[in-house]
Amino acid sequence: MKYEPVIGLEVHAQLLTESKIFCGCSTQFGQAPNQNTCPVCMGFPGVLPVLNKKTVEFAIRAGLATRCEIARSSRFARKNYFYPDLPKGYQISQFELPLCTNGYIELAMNGETKRIRLTRIHMEEDAGKNIHDMRSDASLVDLNRAGVPLLEIVSEPDIRSAEEAGSYLRTLRAILQYLEICDGNMEEGSFRCDANVSVRPEGTDTLGTKVEIKNLNSFKAVEKAIVFEIRRHIEALSEGGTLIQETRLWDPDREETRPMRTKEFAHDYRYFPDPDLLPVIVDEQWIDTIRASLPELPEDRKIRFITRYEIPAYDAELLTSRRDIADYFESALKTHRSPKALANWILGDLFRVLKERKLDDKLYITDWPVHAENLANMIALIDRGTISGKIAKTVFDAMLDSGRSPQEIVTDKGLEQVSDSETIERAIDQVLAAHPKQVADYRAGNEKIFGFLVGQIMKATQGKINPQKANESLKRKLTQGG
Ligand SMILES: [Zn+2]
Repeated sequence: MKYEPVIGLEVHAQLLTESKIFCGCSTQFGQAPNQNTCPVCMGFPGVLPVLNKKTVEFAIRAGLATRCEIARSSRFARKNYFYPDLPKGYQISQFELPLCTNGYIELAMNGETKRIRLTRIHMEEDAGKNIHDMRSDASLVDLNRAGVPLLEIVSEPDIRSAEEAGSYLRTLRAILQYLEICDGNMEEGSFRCDANVSVRPEGTDTLGTKVEIKNLNSFKAVEKAIVFEIRRHIEALSEGGTLIQETRLWDPDREETRPMRTKEFAHDYRYFPDPDLLPVIVDEQWIDTIRASLPELPEDRKIRFITRYEIPAYDAELLTSRRDIADYFESALKTHRSPKALANWILGDLFRVLKERKLDDKLYITDWPVHAENLANMIALIDRGTISGKIAKTVFDAMLDSGRSPQEIVTDKGLEQVSDSETIERAIDQVLAAHPKQVADYRAGNEKIFGFLVGQIMKATQGKINPQKANESLKRKLTQGG
């Protein structure tokens, strides 16, 4: 029997507000433990929460960008459970009346568009953090994160593969980054994901037993965990076994999931409306103002890149997948207008380095040592024939390590391309004189030797020689001499 995976994702996105959702404490990451706290977010009795308006505005931005309906009246509820990082004994969240519902996101999958529906987007507060200190055997609580505003974004179970799940998360993260409401940093936990996975016989509509996977802190982890679960489900069902509904944790070291808690321990949160908070009333005019302030989103920017800069759709897709990279590309274009060459350098060398230095999940290429202007100037040096494409790689690496301009690097290291015929001929003569046997072989008809001789000439001149001129001159000398 063939099985079809059914996947739904739940994303928690931390909002880039300056203060917390129900108090004036800072949301800054990396502060000393419990520095960003006050009686409200520490859950002292008798305090009252006051809703941060920016949180609502950011949630509406997300809702409009994902084609949601925006509720004119929504409400906060208390989600009751006990845990040391939740000092009030309940989390304030939206339950039966969320702010945004029935939206969707479109994914570009192998040349086709796939629509993933969104059930809801709601606002809630984050909990604190427990730190288990192995040396002192103590558990410590840091409440800096308690009360930081989150959006919970819940998809319908429309996702059918690990690949689609990855694409959905990247697209969603890009949208939030373009809206400037979430930095999308998965390592710092400002973009977190839980996955609900089940399988069913292909062609049927019923839903199989679903498993929730937690502890997914990179796109790779999400994709690998889903692949692992799909295989585990199919194997169990094919052997006539059954599955239990449970929450499982992804173990990135062993690359497997393991049970965390089963249905018997599932929480009953006993939600009820928070009596300390008024309903959230949103008027038409405010929605219109927010709608008018929305930036160009990834999909629109991609289309503009294809038509305006005449670059392939796939390249445009990659360039616009992150706002900072798209901005970097357009900023470089102001210095040197060669969209194709710039796209090639960004998607080739720059992406390679991002991957090597593990910066792909982090943000802001603006902090990158190779300034957009410098990359553009380096390409201009290639176009003018000052450096060869090969030497440009050396210049690129040097820019990366020093942040200096390509002109400075070329002058300093004497990397300028040699094009004058006299120097080229002298270099070739020396190489030919040093390799009489190879020259004889070439002249006897072994044409493969040509590449070897070019290599020797490049080596002797540290790759600085103009390759086209060297090729022409070498060919002439070899045939003349024969
Ligand atoms: Zn506070």
